[in-house]
Amino acid sequence: MQKGKDQKRKAGKAGHVCLCRLAGMLLCAGILTISGCKAPVQRFTAAGTAMGTVVSQTVYTSEEGVTEQVMQLLTKLEQDTLSWREEASEVAAINGAAGSGTWLPLSEKMQAYLEVLLSVSEESGGAFDVTMGAITRLWQIDTWAALPAEEAGQEKAVLPKQAEIQEALEKTGYEGVRLSPEGIQLPEGMRLDLGAAGKGIACDEILAMLEQNYGTAVSGAVISVGGSILTYGEKPDQTPFLVAVADPFGTKERAGVLTLQGQWCVSTSGDYERYFEADGKRYHHIMDPATGYPADSGVRSVTVVCKSGILSDALSTACFVLGTEKGLGLAEAYGAEALFIRTDGSFAMTEGMKTLFCAE
Ligand code: ADP
Ligand code: MG
Repeated sequence: MQKGKDQKRKAGKAGHVCLCRLAGMLLCAGILTISGCKAPVQRFTAAGTAMGTVVSQTVYTSEEGVTEQVMQLLTKLEQDTLSWREEASEVAAINGAAGSGTWLPLSEKMQAYLEVLLSVSEESGGAFDVTMGAITRLWQIDTWAALPAEEAGQEKAVLPKQAEIQEALEKTGYEGVRLSPEGIQLPEGMRLDLGAAGKGIACDEILAMLEQNYGTAVSGAVISVGGSILTYGEKPDQTPFLVAVADPFGTKERAGVLTLQGQWCVSTSGDYERYFEADGKRYHHIMDPATGYPADSGVRSVTVVCKSGILSDALSTACFVLGTEKGLGLAEAYGAEALFIRTDGSFAMTEGMKTLFCAE
């Protein structure tokens, strides 16, 4: 579903893009002429929903219709490729063929996504696991995770029984996935869930589309798809992109700000956006594949910055499950920068993150 329209307004102002409450923060647009003979570069903003989440865009371009094209791309990516709920999607076809014992041929893109995601599954020692479908369905994450944070907290979700969790866990495990140039084979009952990387994949696809379809006609952009953000090119005044990191405790407007120049992908995984409460305990949507329960590694949120969206998104989830010490090692192994906000409010970060992040 696509909501929201392109808006052109007066007076340019650098905006923070908050990782959780974005829509209201993308404010103003100015018309800026870059050169006398070319079409003027304008600042377009748009806010809407796609892939079950809020999408906010600021695009500096001489072309009309870029933000609409981004929304179309996201809807198509969800419906045709990533969502296990969409019957006609490639993930649904893969899941439907589980246990058939034959190779299911994959699109080139899906092959590439799964190679990356299986590598993160392996490098993280299974903290990230692309085969968590049976567990995420048992917890009915999609019924409460698709809701806005305020409503999701209120939703009455049913706590699965230990025996059900054990049974579902037996249908998970990335080691069971067979991937070859011929395609994929999943064991009986196994279900892929690309939810932990979908929004990052979306950032990569938007980047490729902007480069291919628009070239220099789009000079810069900041586009957030839920917890993943793409920065691209530069702003007309060449000041850096400022990306706010949400305060997971909700006590401050933000935990701090990332200062980014050029193309980056930023993903945050936190326990504060999608959760429900039962028996006085909070159950969030990032699962520990070792237990089948929400991860409890002493962190409230992890933000990862790197060039690739599929990696920033998968790594933020993996690092959340691993916790600070192992998570820092994993991020470094991928050359990514990571920021951990612990349950006691303290920060831990990679060396490179220290030059990007400023706490508030
Ligand atoms: P968000 O989707 O809010 O950006 P994440 O990127 O951390 O958050 O992804 C969480 C989603 O990924 C869950 O809703 C679930 O579908 C799936 N998931 C949960 N735990 C794991 C895990 N350990 N490994 C892989 N996928 C997971
Ligand atoms: Mg993620």
